[in-house]
Amino acid sequence: MTDQTQFIKVPHVVIVGGGFGGLSAARALRKAPVSATLVDRRNHHLFQPLLYQVATAALSPADITAPIRGILRKQRATEVRMAEVQGFDLPARRVHLTSGEALAYDYLIVATGATHAYFGHPEWEPVAPGLKTVEDATEIRRRFLLAFEAAEGERDPEKRAALLTFVVVGAGPTGVELAGSMAEIARHSMIRDFRNINPGSARVVLVEGGPRVLSAYDEKLSAYAARALTRIGVEVRTGAIVTGIDAEGVSIGEERIPARNVVWAAGVTASPLGKALGVPTDRVGRVMIRPDLSIPGHPEVFVIGDLASLEGPGGRPLPGVAQVANQQGVHAANNIRRLIRGEPQTSFRYVDKGSMATIGRRAAVMEAGRVKMKGWFAWVAWLVIHVFFLVGFRNRILVMTQWAWNYLTWQRGARLITGETGAELAPRGKPIGTPEGHSEPMSEGRPASRDAALAAAQGQTAPSDGEGAGWMGGDRSQAGNRE
Ligand SMILES: Cc1cc2nc3c(=O)[nH]c(=O)nc-3n(C[C@H](O)[C@H](O)[C@H](O)COP(=O)(O)OP(=O)(O)OC[C@H]3O[C@@H](n4cnc5c(N)ncnc54)[C@H](O)[C@@H]3O)c2cc1C
Repeated sequence: MTDQTQFIKVPHVVIVGGGFGGLSAARALRKAPVSATLVDRRNHHLFQPLLYQVATAALSPADITAPIRGILRKQRATEVRMAEVQGFDLPARRVHLTSGEALAYDYLIVATGATHAYFGHPEWEPVAPGLKTVEDATEIRRRFLLAFEAAEGERDPEKRAALLTFVVVGAGPTGVELAGSMAEIARHSMIRDFRNINPGSARVVLVEGGPRVLSAYDEKLSAYAARALTRIGVEVRTGAIVTGIDAEGVSIGEERIPARNVVWAAGVTASPLGKALGVPTDRVGRVMIRPDLSIPGHPEVFVIGDLASLEGPGGRPLPGVAQVANQQGVHAANNIRRLIRGEPQTSFRYVDKGSMATIGRRAAVMEAGRVKMKGWFAWVAWLVIHVFFLVGFRNRILVMTQWAWNYLTWQRGARLITGETGAELAPRGKPIGTPEGHSEPMSEGRPASRDAALAAAQGQTAPSDGEGAGWMGGDRSQAGNRE
């Protein structure tokens, strides 16, 4: 094990986590009389609020990430280490890495965030990925886009319908944003791209156990959000508690929704490192911190962001949002300066600047104190604020350019399916148009005239609308219901 104590001349601060909290702490220590080491198991900072846009092919991962080393390039007293932390020795003031190395500190800030929680059903995780990392987002994107490809080659109408059914579990901001975006891609971006299916007939179901979507928002805003979602084609199911998820679908009590694509946006739990600190945690594993953000018995150790549990106004825990993490990062850094100067630490006061969520490409809800906004103006405010808070000038330019392109063309620039796909693509039957191939075309709800043109191009005869049970398949009514 390497002991770094011998190299430390000024107090040394170790920051674990390069997310919103860790990064804002590191930046706030820029001019402090300390040296610092920021440790993250990833080499990049991720702007999670736009992760759903990567999952739905609007943006690429590089648009919403920035290398931590690059962000802190000009802070010469700050070292960046890409490493995984596995535990702490608080009495000896050491941070233990999985590599076996130990980092010594005088002050420690832990900001390792949160991860998905499946409410005691870990078996749901492989079939219902959550959205937290770049890998999660590209996996969700992969599954979403692959479902259309597999449906294009699927001859069985029931299997095709299951492939084109997307269930999002949890109607908080992430679930609402994902579902809205999925419905719009299917109905607009991909509508002309397939020959055997109608992507617009895809079913996007947003399932929420509670009585309303966006339950943290004002009731009127959440009712507006539900209406706006329905308008863009999302089937909103509130008061529906998911009782089972497997590779073939989702169960809500007795009801079964056949669906090959499920996304989990329902629950989070704190990073396991919270428990490794050996101090009390709440029921989701968040560390119960003191008002100055330190942990009981260790004024030199701070826990911030999603990993921390601290009561806000009204006795409710502060929400797990970027603003809290950012403000706590700055506050922890300021308290470290005070400790160095021998001054007492101060309590953290959260300044709530409001919250917002988008619903598709033209609507959003926004709540800031007594100010409540919805619709197009809220959506424009959402765009401006998110671009403003993105880390890095390059990212801001890239994201604005992509958004302008997406808005004007309805197209999604990042429709990339990566990785091996062979096993996931449904085996094709006989090619359409082969004499003995029961050439039962596979379109769903597509206008007959377009089908006729396509069929002619493929050397087939398209049945008329009236005789189109086989042509339109059993999904036609479903398509009608959706639209
Ligand atoms: C999809 C999504 C959308 C969101 N949208 C919004 C929004 O619109 N507005 C908003 O305010 N908030 C939003 N949030 C919440 C916001 O992103 C979080 O509150 C914020 O990221 C918390 O910051 P943090 O620093 O505590 O943790 P994070 O930003 O999650 O950072 C944790 C860091 O710790 C690192 N780490 C974890 N474990 C280890 C380890 N063992 N060793 C080393 N490094 C480790 C991780 O790699 C990561 O870089 C969203 C979150 C998600 C997932």
